[in-house]
Amino acid sequence: MLFAAALFLAWGSFLNVVAYRLMHGPSFFVQSSFCPNCKKPLAWYDLVPVLSWLILRGKCRNCQKPISWLYPFIELLTMFVILRLWVITPVQFLPTTLIFVSAIIVSIRTDIETMLLSRYATLYLAPLGILASFMGYLPQSGTMSIIGFLVGYGILWLIAKAFFKWSGQHGMGQGDLELLACIGAFIGPAGAWWALLAGSLAGSVAGLALITRTGKRWMKIPFGPFLGIGALSYLMFPQIVQIFMQF
Ligand SMILES: [Zn+2]
Repeated sequence: MLFAAALFLAWGSFLNVVAYRLMHGPSFFVQSSFCPNCKKPLAWYDLVPVLSWLILRGKCRNCQKPISWLYPFIELLTMFVILRLWVITPVQFLPTTLIFVSAIIVSIRTDIETMLLSRYATLYLAPLGILASFMGYLPQSGTMSIIGFLVGYGILWLIAKAFFKWSGQHGMGQGDLELLACIGAFIGPAGAWWALLAGSLAGSVAGLALITRTGKRWMKIPFGPFLGIGALSYLMFPQIVQIFMQF
């Protein structure tokens, strides 16, 4: 159990690197990790998940510049998500499910940090979800996976259109549509629907909290992380989903 937790923390660390490199360019894949501010290479003991961040109190050892809270957050999130899925996911669905949640976690990180989603973690991954469904590596049928893809894209497209008509502003990015389409491809139309409902609810609460705390009248927050958390919760807590889906 402890070994698994450490392993999944390390996987979260790797997802941080993937997210960082998707945001800042591919050349990083051949370099070792370094401080984004002073560019000093990091020693292995500065790269221990969560612990290094805590010991350094969230600051670079060399230049004292703060290191984003997103590093330990993503590591812990990854650990909790995979520990839970490891226990409840039937083994034949596990590999594809792990690829999917990894992509979701990468998307959460890039969207919080830059308000951008990489297509490598959303749209370009959707065919894998459809293929895996046809081959029996995901619970829903291939047809349901395709429907999930279309529903995911379609609902948000309609909402975005309606919102634009009503307010004259773009409330959602193309990235959000592609993210929900990908979610639908991997967990089906019901999953996409759940991710949208749970994500909108969580997003509204977080938005209100932020607006009250900062005193701003209007602020832009990324929607992707909330869709992502919604999708993760669909996989992690099927009992809760079932209770709400009856209504
Ligand atoms: Zn530094």
